[in-house]
Amino acid sequence: MGKIAGSLAMASLALMGFVSTAGATEAPDQGKPSFVLHKISDHLYAIGEPHYYQKNYSYLLVGEERALMFDAGANQTEDITQLVRTVTDKPLSVLPSHLHFDHLGGLHNFSSIYLPDLPFVRGFQQDDGLYQVPEPVHLGNIDHLSLPPFKVERLVKPGEEIDLGGYKVKMISTPGHTRDEVALFDEANNILLSGDHLYPSWLLSGNLGDYIDSLTATLALIDKNTTLYGAHADEDPNRVPSMTYDDVLQVRDKMLAIQDGRAKGEKFSDPELIKDSQLYKVVKDISILTDVQFTDGRRYGY
Ligand SMILES: [Zn+2]
Repeated sequence: MGKIAGSLAMASLALMGFVSTAGATEAPDQGKPSFVLHKISDHLYAIGEPHYYQKNYSYLLVGEERALMFDAGANQTEDITQLVRTVTDKPLSVLPSHLHFDHLGGLHNFSSIYLPDLPFVRGFQQDDGLYQVPEPVHLGNIDHLSLPPFKVERLVKPGEEIDLGGYKVKMISTPGHTRDEVALFDEANNILLSGDHLYPSWLLSGNLGDYIDSLTATLALIDKNTTLYGAHADEDPNRVPSMTYDDVLQVRDKMLAIQDGRAKGEKFSDPELIKDSQLYKVVKDISILTDVQFTDGRRYGY
């Protein structure tokens, strides 16, 4: 949880119940499309949920042999894979950027699920082999998500490559928002898919020390020309959420200032998700939330 790119119009999508607009390809739901497809390259697509209150963006990676969704979407009723199938017919897997409800709404639509190979995640495996993520981890009560136990096809080690055939990404562990947060680095195209580690809106700090360490590692991995694509849009829900190296540097430096007591926060709440928090503005629409209490009364952090 936590908000370019050129877009593509595909005429044939009307057959599938999706509509094309000048800006992007949309799946209609009584006039309000749940999913909007944006083409970034032949290998990479963003799927936005502009009418969902958290303005989620999931990413579709397409290789010669396989396809991978990075996040399953927030929507629990419409099948995001129907939109995927308008782009590719390759075998499809999903890797959630982390195990929060707004990235798992469509998980049940995938027959192949990847998770990061982390002790925290392995702890969710039951005796029958299935993974049961507890509600205090996925926080699904906020969106009335129930998450039945599911089978995991592959555990991906931090630093390991996922090879989709002619298109490879490296999974990196980026704790701080959550313990299990991961990002995908496409070194050949200098793109980092950054999930909830980095997106251009309110970043929720689960553990400030971990977050700073992960940001420092991210800054060492990327360079001035890297494009980062995150999992939530900024104020404009129709724009694929992107960030730059300098944005990341400013987020990291602001978190260091928060840690040292040099930054001044302000009280912040939001009727849909945040009952109380401290907000620290960074740059553009980017800010950092600490001391978060959700609308259901629970405190956030680890
Ligand atoms: Zn999250």
